[in-house]
Amino acid sequence: MNFEMPTLSTLHTLLDPIDCRQEQQRHLSSVLPALSAALGVPIPTPVHPHPQQLAQSLHIPSCERAVVVFIDGLGFWNLVLRIGHTPNMRAMLRQQYNDQPIWTTQPSTTSVAIPTFGTGTAPGFTGMFGYTQRNPRTGNKAQMITFTDDIAPREVQHQPTIFSQIDQQGMRVTSIGLPRFEHSALTEAALKGGAFIGSESPRMRLKHALAANETPGLTYLYIRDLDKTAHKSGWDNDAWVAQLEKIDTIIGTLRRMLAPGTLLVITADHGVVNMVEQDQIDIADNPMLQEGVELVAGEPRAPMLYTTLGQQDAVAQRWQEVLADRAVVLTQEEALNQGIFGAVQPHTLPWLADVFVLTQGQHTIVDSRTQREQERTLPAVHGSRTQMEMEIPLLMEVL
Ligand SMILES: [Zn+2]
Repeated sequence: MNFEMPTLSTLHTLLDPIDCRQEQQRHLSSVLPALSAALGVPIPTPVHPHPQQLAQSLHIPSCERAVVVFIDGLGFWNLVLRIGHTPNMRAMLRQQYNDQPIWTTQPSTTSVAIPTFGTGTAPGFTGMFGYTQRNPRTGNKAQMITFTDDIAPREVQHQPTIFSQIDQQGMRVTSIGLPRFEHSALTEAALKGGAFIGSESPRMRLKHALAANETPGLTYLYIRDLDKTAHKSGWDNDAWVAQLEKIDTIIGTLRRMLAPGTLLVITADHGVVNMVEQDQIDIADNPMLQEGVELVAGEPRAPMLYTTLGQQDAVAQRWQEVLADRAVVLTQEEALNQGIFGAVQPHTLPWLADVFVLTQGQHTIVDSRTQREQERTLPAVHGSRTQMEMEIPLLMEVL
């Protein structure tokens, strides 16, 4: 394998920040545009205008059928550090081109990553910038997985989905997940198009994936359980590993039973880091972190601040001073200049926060004045720009 296996003495470097612009090719946003080209129905997007070239540079071979397994919360390094438990993914990781990670979005979180993946664009196009963000129409904080505060998905996310565009080209697209996701706001915003098959049973979902793949086209299988387990009990423990083993068994069945010639693709939306209580900063205890801040959105690894008019530079400065090397603090202008959201479109700009905070190491930032204890004590978290959170697998195999 073409990477150094982390050792006890290098492990901490996985918690160092990496610098990555949204427009990279080895990026989650490239996966579906490149796959569309591999399937013979190239869908260009504003971020990836040449899907055929993209497929070539990602080494995606032409195919008649592809199955994408999307594993919520499986970071490249979370996988590598527990690779002994995953014979199937280990065999895939050993294959050429699979041993290098790709990058997810910043913030490294589901409600940002899935729309970017589903539209092949960038948060600047989808308007989905965080786990929570301020709704410019009401001024309230809205959660962007279920779209609280009465936000219609179309109100913020205007980009056509890749699934709907492949479907319009007459090629089969099948999404498989929990029944309640069929009409969920996030599906509507990011993954709409083609047929949806819902089932509560993982076995049935697997069966549906095998059956769907009998017809040429694209099958998408979403697996949520690993992220759920991490948020419940942390990632580095028996419960998480047991869940990972279950998922590897599913991958094993797909490898054995999918029609020959199928391209199997495994990717994810973000990795996870464990929360450490003594590395948590509470805004409620720090008056300097409160001054000039009207609303704190985002999540503990990536707070996004909406400030009093004209206060963004002063707030950013104060936060950087208080947090020192525990976080990187960026004003909106700095974040835009770094290109971390891609090209921000006029209609998404009002959703953007004034200050972005990206924590380092295992630090988290919470606010006990407004957040419930459960939100503040999640055993595993994500959202920031460390290797652990940002680097995700892209494992591909022609069966
Ligand atoms: Zn999560």
